[in-house]
Amino acid sequence: MDDRHVAPRPADPPTPTLIVRDTRVGGVPADIVIAGNRIAAIEPPDPERAIDAARTRVVDGRGTAALPGLMNAHTHSAMAMMRSYADDMPLMPWLREKIWPFEAHLTEDDVYWGTRLACVEMIRTGTTFFNDMYWFFHGTARATVDSGMRAVLSPAFIDLGDPERLRREAEATLRTLDEARAYPDRVAFAFGPHAIYTVSEAGLRWVAEQAAARGCLVNVHTAETAGEVDDCVRAHGLRPVAYLDRVGVLSERCLAIHAVHLDDADIALLAARGAHVVHNPVSNLKLASGGPMRYRDLRAAGVNVLVGTDGCASNNNLDLFEELKFAALMAKHATGDPTTLPADEALDLVTTHAARAFGIDAGALAPGKLADLILIDLGHVMLFPGHHLAADLVYSAHGRAVRTTICDGRVLMADGVIDDEAEIRAEVGARLARLTGR
Ligand SMILES: [Zn+2]
Repeated sequence: MDDRHVAPRPADPPTPTLIVRDTRVGGVPADIVIAGNRIAAIEPPDPERAIDAARTRVVDGRGTAALPGLMNAHTHSAMAMMRSYADDMPLMPWLREKIWPFEAHLTEDDVYWGTRLACVEMIRTGTTFFNDMYWFFHGTARATVDSGMRAVLSPAFIDLGDPERLRREAEATLRTLDEARAYPDRVAFAFGPHAIYTVSEAGLRWVAEQAAARGCLVNVHTAETAGEVDDCVRAHGLRPVAYLDRVGVLSERCLAIHAVHLDDADIALLAARGAHVVHNPVSNLKLASGGPMRYRDLRAAGVNVLVGTDGCASNNNLDLFEELKFAALMAKHATGDPTTLPADEALDLVTTHAARAFGIDAGALAPGKLADLILIDLGHVMLFPGHHLAADLVYSAHGRAVRTTICDGRVLMADGVIDDEAEIRAEVGARLARLTGR
C-alpha cells in the first residue's frame, strides 16, 4: 500500500523494532514492545502476535524477570585495566607507587580499550548507564558509543593551585565540552573538578559558574577521608560541604562523590541545595578511607542518594548488585537497625534515584521510557526458590544472574553473549604487556 494516500492515524502504535516475549514485569507475565529507543508498550504475553521478522527482533524472555538497567553513579571505567594490579596498600603509597605511575603512560587508545573492557563487565552485570571521571575524555566517549551504553562523562579537572594550569584546564575543558556535542545523545558531558584538595578555589568557582550557565552536572569527590575534612577546616575554616557551597559548586547539579565524613550541618546543607550524594561502599571499605555512610540521616533529610562502584583499582569489580549488598549491610551495621535500607529501596538507588539525578528518562519500565532494561535469569540457583525478587537480587544474586542487557533499544548482550568480548580482552591484554613492562 502507498502510505501517501492514507490519512494519518495518530493513535497507531509505532512499528516495534524489538520485542521481549513472555518475561515478567513487577511479577506479572508480560511482553515488552520496544520501538526505536523507547518502550512502546508492556502487554500481557501474546503468543499469536504477528511479527514482521525483517523489522522486529524477538528476544525470548521465558524464565526471566525484566528490570530497568542499573545505573552506576560513580566510576573511573578505564581503570578496569588496573583490576588487582595493586591492593592492600595505604592510600598514598597505593597512588604514588602504583596507580599514578601506571596512569602516566596511558594513551587515549589505552583509555578507549580499558573503557571497552569496563563496558563488557557492566553490560554482563546488568548496568546500562555509568557516570565517569577520567583522563582522555574522547577515549572514554568513543568506547561508550561503540559499546552501546549510556553515560555521563567528566574529563578530570585538576589545577593543583597553579593559575597557569587552571587557565589551560579551563580552556581544554570548554574545548572538550564543545567537541562532546558530536557524540550521540547517549553520551553527555559533565564537569569533573577532581576534589577540593586538587582544584584551587578559583578553579572551583570557575567550574560552578560554567556549570550553572550551561546546565551541566558537576562530579566532585567530597569528604572521602577524615584527613580531607581536617585539611579543609585548617585551610578554609569550613568543612568540605560548606566550602563547596561557599564557592558555588553545591547545587541540584552537583554529585558529591563518597561524602562519608558528614556532620549534621553538612547533611542539612546538602538537602537544602538539592545536591546528590554518591555512595561507594566497597571502595570506602577497601581503602579504609571512609567511615560508615550516614545513609539513614541523609534519607531522612531528603538527600537523593545514589550508588557507584568507583574504579576497578579500588573495588575490584563493577557489579552493582554486589555494591547494593554492601550498601545495605553497611547502612544496617552503622545504625544497628536491620530495617535500614531494605532491598527494594536499595534497588531504587541505582534506578529511579539515579535517573532523577542525571536527568535521564530511564530507571523504570513503563511505556514512553527509554528502552534500557535487563533480563534476570530466574532459573539461577541464587534466585531459587524465589520468595522475594528484590531480596534475592540485593542479598543473594550477583550480576552473573543477568542473562540479557538492552540499552537504547539495542541488545548489547543476548543470553550471556557479547559479540566483541574476545577481541576486547585480547586488545587489553596486548596493551597491558606494554603498560606494565611485562
Ligand atoms: Zn572516584
